[in-house]
Amino acid sequence: MRIIADLHIHSKYSRATSKDMNLDLLALWAKVKGIDLLGTGDFTHPAHFASIEEKLEPAGNGLYALKEQSQKNNPTRFMLTAEVSNIYTCNGKTRKIHSLIFAPSLASVRKMNSAFMRLGNIRSDGRPIFGFSAQDLLKIVLDASPDAMLVPAHAWTPWFSIFGSKSGFDSIEECFGDLSGHIHAIETGLSSDPRMNWRLSSLDRITLISNSDAHSPSKLGREANVFECALDYHEITGVIKSKDRSRFLYTVEFYPEEGKYHYDGHRGCGIVFSPQETLKAGRKCPVCLKEVTVGVMSRVEELADRPEGFAPADAIPARHLVPLEEILAEVLGTGVNSVKVQREYKRLTSVARSEFRILLDMAEDDLTGLAGATTAGAIMKVRSGDITVKPGFDGEFGKIKVFGGVEETVPTGPVQIGLF
Ligand SMILES: [Zn+2]
Ligand SMILES: [Zn+2]
Repeated sequence: MRIIADLHIHSKYSRATSKDMNLDLLALWAKVKGIDLLGTGDFTHPAHFASIEEKLEPAGNGLYALKEQSQKNNPTRFMLTAEVSNIYTCNGKTRKIHSLIFAPSLASVRKMNSAFMRLGNIRSDGRPIFGFSAQDLLKIVLDASPDAMLVPAHAWTPWFSIFGSKSGFDSIEECFGDLSGHIHAIETGLSSDPRMNWRLSSLDRITLISNSDAHSPSKLGREANVFECALDYHEITGVIKSKDRSRFLYTVEFYPEEGKYHYDGHRGCGIVFSPQETLKAGRKCPVCLKEVTVGVMSRVEELADRPEGFAPADAIPARHLVPLEEILAEVLGTGVNSVKVQREYKRLTSVARSEFRILLDMAEDDLTGLAGATTAGAIMKVRSGDITVKPGFDGEFGKIKVFGGVEETVPTGPVQIGLF
């Protein structure tokens, strides 16, 4: 069966998250979005893990479901997931790396958590901060279960990522040493997409996955993974580990320009630079004369050994989408959080059964019948990549325009490489 999976989210116990991020509401919102498999997030946090133990029960294959839903048809499945932050010094440089952890059982989570409890504070934040290395983290994860997985999170963001310009590494090997063979995947993050990652031949053996990193329910599934396989922990992690193109159909991507760290610059100084402009300016902000925040595109440019546009033969395809709320906001000429947009979002997703059916599956005629010609036209334009984006930089999200251009835009061109 086709499975849409979002494996990186946070609970209400992580900093700056919505109080609605609890398992009951997450299961409900997964249905609205059309997500079949959702990460629990934050299994390292004692209170969230207590609710996982209390509310979920095994679905028999390394995945879990809400107790009251598990007997029903097609309940939302959960995978035991967490994200942790490692801040440490390596070869004389401060490193700050976020990693995702996938676990096959409650028992393996208990093992990890008791190791984490001895080595740091797991109570103060759903995404705990540890002082030991990412390599030591990987040891703990594999010690708890050889079937557990560690995936470097949002691999390119300037702060807190394995390839980040501020405190990352230049390669997986530099970070994980002789354990690098146990790293099978990285998360591309909102500001980069597979096409950018394909420019590094060192990542050819790595599977690129995409998740929402949602801090509130409405952001679930803004990036996701689409598999054709059984709802089974071992099968899904097997597909990821083997980069099985026949069962990993595609990733759902943000337009990377829309991400907060696509371009370079200084938000406070009003400076936005493309990678070329950053080079020309000697990486200096002309306003405050400090180094600009070097975003994902520049960093990819720095580490890439292939030209733009290169696609490896065995690459997993990607489909770029814009969240339905953003499309509706533009069509209705009002804000994403306005009553008008929210009312129409609710109506469309309840009639169509889910947001992903609208964004990915429904034929244009059916969309027109459901949402009217303008909204249907906008969705078709998003599917074909016929939109413009003003790139995000230094923590500010980029801006999407489906109809007409925005000032200082870059045309995205057709980006549905591969299948579409
Ligand atoms: Zn993170
Ligand atoms: Zn500045």
